[in-house]
Amino acid sequence: MKIAVFSTKEYDRDFLCSANNDHELTFFDTRLSAKTAILADGFPVICVFVNDELNAAVLQQLARQGTRLITLRCAGFNNVDLQAANIHGISVARVPSYSPQAVAEHAVALMLALNRNIHHAYNRVRDGNFSLQGLLGFDMGTRCVGIIGTGKIGSVVARILNGFGCQVIAYDPKPCPECEAIGVRYVTLPELYQQADIITLHCPLNPATEHLINREALTLMRQGVMLINTSRGAVIDTDAVVAALKSQQIAYLGLDVYEQEGDLFFKDLSNQIIQDDVFERLLTFPNVLITGHQGFFTHEAMSNIAQTTMANINFFAAGQVSGNEIGTNLIKTDT
Ligand code: NAD
Repeated sequence: MKIAVFSTKEYDRDFLCSANNDHELTFFDTRLSAKTAILADGFPVICVFVNDELNAAVLQQLARQGTRLITLRCAGFNNVDLQAANIHGISVARVPSYSPQAVAEHAVALMLALNRNIHHAYNRVRDGNFSLQGLLGFDMGTRCVGIIGTGKIGSVVARILNGFGCQVIAYDPKPCPECEAIGVRYVTLPELYQQADIITLHCPLNPATEHLINREALTLMRQGVMLINTSRGAVIDTDAVVAALKSQQIAYLGLDVYEQEGDLFFKDLSNQIIQDDVFERLLTFPNVLITGHQGFFTHEAMSNIAQTTMANINFFAAGQVSGNEIGTNLIKTDT
């Protein structure tokens, strides 16, 4: 089948080509949006990533141009209007699980780096500054960590932190028995905000979780809390978080995702003037550590993503269901 792959980087090409058997892959560096949807003209399958825009207008155009399957190279699908896809008879498939360890380990890496000031220590030592002033950390095992969302990723975070000896509490509308079995205690959200020294977000972005971490939630949190977000940027109200950093309510902030990341992440903008003032303000805080949506980026995860993506397409081409479809469309194929 003819597949248009959007938001492609060199590493995507390498992994997808290795997993491809006999499909015709056309790679576009650009993000999919209303402006670029014309590039998908004549492609029955398009393959997209986290910041591609699949709103109602884009889906209408894709349907008109002959697209019948959208396959996401990620687990989250908050960027797809599933209702519009359904109306236009477009099937949507994703990679529900490729390496929960990858993202969980990255979330813990952010916690450890912020706690022990690794980002400052790295620069100091390179500068010949071996002073320890300002680098004081704490023993992880003495702290209470609150996990919001104990699905595939959050439950691995729980296991890792359990190994550190942390007290682990969690909020999830569907508690995970494996987490309960290792001693994770489920509490209400306000209780989690009040009790946790470290809060880490692993819920999906949906209408219920958009700006979950807002001014009201922040005021319930402990003074000096550490907040980690490797989920989706819009789970956090960034303006409220900036205010909480200024008031020192938040003492550490680790982000792998950012609400407006679509204009920034996955590109080299080192020679350009960044226009996003909120993002630039975040960078001025010494206790903020940001990575550019790299939580998923391990060899194992990339390989699994490519293999599942190509399997989703193979099933579609054979008129079969892979089990990775989301939404309500039946798989239809005639080519
Ligand atoms: P998952 O579906 O296995 O788990 C999500 C959990 O969140 C579920 O247990 C669900 O019950 C829970 N949940 C739903 N609504 C909630 C709410 N209102 N409050 C608290 N919990 C709620 O998903 P996952 O594979 O663990 O991934 C979690 C999220 O991580 C994804 O949705 C995606 O946004 C993000 N992610 C980020 C990266 C990255 O590179 N940074 C990579 C993969 C996934």
